[in-house]
Amino acid sequence: MRDSTEGQGGLPQMKIIDAHLHFSKCDHFDGIASAAGHENSGEHLKRVFGEQGVILAVAMGEMGGGRIEGVCTVRRPEFAGMSPESGALPSFIAWCAGVESTEINSGTLSRSLELFSEALKEKACVGLKFYPGYDPVLLSDPRHDPYFELAETFDVPVVVHTGSLSGHGGLLKYSHPLTVDEAAVRFPRVRFVMAHCGDPWIVDAAAVAGKNSNVFIDLSGLAVGNFTADWFCDRYRAHLDYIRHWLTYLDDWEKIMYGSDWPLVNIPAYIEVVRRLVPEEHHGKVFFENACRVFPKLAALAGL
Ligand SMILES: [Zn+2]
Repeated sequence: MRDSTEGQGGLPQMKIIDAHLHFSKCDHFDGIASAAGHENSGEHLKRVFGEQGVILAVAMGEMGGGRIEGVCTVRRPEFAGMSPESGALPSFIAWCAGVESTEINSGTLSRSLELFSEALKEKACVGLKFYPGYDPVLLSDPRHDPYFELAETFDVPVVVHTGSLSGHGGLLKYSHPLTVDEAAVRFPRVRFVMAHCGDPWIVDAAAVAGKNSNVFIDLSGLAVGNFTADWFCDRYRAHLDYIRHWLTYLDDWEKIMYGSDWPLVNIPAYIEVVRRLVPEEHHGKVFFENACRVFPKLAALAGL
């Protein structure tokens, strides 16, 4: 049997951090996981991660659920039943506390900030997550300012949904990567992560990341479903060339992080797609090192 530190062909296996996935238990995600050739369970994910060298992942807090009437509450990954004794997440999953912008109101703001502060004191809570587009609120809306100040205080990044939206309810004008620019300028000491590289607005994401030293990119969600890397790279060759073109133009691989958006995509195939997308000399940064810098709490969780 191959040693777990060896990859294919007996070469040392690359250590990977998955900077963006979803770890929530519901019928919806169960169906999406099986369409991607997976099973929506912690045990299954642990096995796949072990095979692929993924040692840590950042799960996004989910919209909906867990409401406290009138207060903008912390959205967590919701994996009820994963760990029945405690409800705790497995040790290889860190998470971002989700902020639902439409719930923020001045009357209960201080209670909301208390709840987010409590969450950010947890070792595994490594960032905040915003959902512009799904929420019809610009990232630069002043109502977000106290949450950005919290991110600065706790030295955690703000992950922002950017790019296309699933379903028909959201509004793309709020999820365009250019909307990250103003928040990044007003909060120069907060690190912002543009999730999904703003796909398909790749050139705009590259412009915003190139201009602002505090803006980063995750490569999650560029594909959905179950496929082989060969099939995907052939079918979407032009789009992958386009992404590579603008990432090369950006010319700052310290800003780019691997993420899968699991359970949306088959993990081994997606890792291979990103390996082919990113020049090999930058794999160490993109698959591991950058995530430790952007999410400083991950370094401790990774035992560094
Ligand atoms: Zn996602």
